[in-house]
Amino acid sequence: MAEGSGKIRVAVSGAAGRMGRMVVETVVAQADMMLVATIDRVGTGEPLADVAGVGVPTMKIDSGIENALDRERPDVVVDFTVPASAKANALACIERGASPVVGTTGLSAMDLEEISRACERQSVPAMVVPNFAVGAVLMMRFAEEAAKWLPQVEIIEMHHDKKADSPSGTAMLTAEKIGNARGESAAIPRTETFKVQGVRGGIHAGVPIHSVRLQGLLAHQIVMLGGPGEVLSIRHDSMDRGSFMAGVMLAVRRVRHLKGLTIGLDSVLFEGA
Ligand code: NAD
Repeated sequence: MAEGSGKIRVAVSGAAGRMGRMVVETVVAQADMMLVATIDRVGTGEPLADVAGVGVPTMKIDSGIENALDRERPDVVVDFTVPASAKANALACIERGASPVVGTTGLSAMDLEEISRACERQSVPAMVVPNFAVGAVLMMRFAEEAAKWLPQVEIIEMHHDKKADSPSGTAMLTAEKIGNARGESAAIPRTETFKVQGVRGGIHAGVPIHSVRLQGLLAHQIVMLGGPGEVLSIRHDSMDRGSFMAGVMLAVRRVRHLKGLTIGLDSVLFEGA
């Protein structure tokens, strides 16, 4: 908490990016939060307000997360950068007692393991959330439930053409949740002849995932479940980046009350942690 003010001190890493800008704008509008640092690789030393048109006019963009952490001692650092930086950023935060809230997707299971160990070692809580949209969290919850009843499942995820990683973190997490919920995985329908390589998608946690990348899309997913004579489709669409902000703010408010590494929003949404 900010000394004396009772506000949560928040830094944003990747502040000049598409998500980062919106997080900055949203944090500044919260009565219980104080924006204390903006970090990015672009516009370093310039006010973010000049580079991206958001933020506190006098606050310059920091080039390195360590400088910002040492100088401003944030309680929480929201990270929307690139997969290659997100783990190191999270570890730097945890090392200095700040809780990372990582929205960057593409972290591996080994990265998550390393972050989790650092959380335990330093007794600092952290969150990694592949999808902050509340509707997407509900979609995963419903898919998990439906997978107990309908044996065959495939995921179609659709994103804008600038998305760096495939499949999406949400699709992978959905597949893992489905895999856990149904225990023994149902056999994936067999294809006798592949006329195009990869046409049946990639398999994660026993679930085929198909990734679509197109201009005009933002973030969309359909979980299709089939049983004898019936198909259930559960669809979620993020129409603009505002769909993620309620979840980001919730994570910023709750992360310091958690223990260790929490993956996904479920525990704060459903279990009242
Ligand atoms: P973007 O390219 O617009 O922004 C990324 C920003 O990070 C850029 O400004 C870049 O300069 C900066 N950056 C790169 N390395 C950095 C570092 N080491 N330190 C500080 N800044 C650094 O990308 P975007 O659309 O904002 O997406 C960012 C990430 O968020 C992606 O991984 C994307 O998949 C993910 N995302 C997650 C959610 C979610 O709900 N979890 C929603 C949307 C996007």
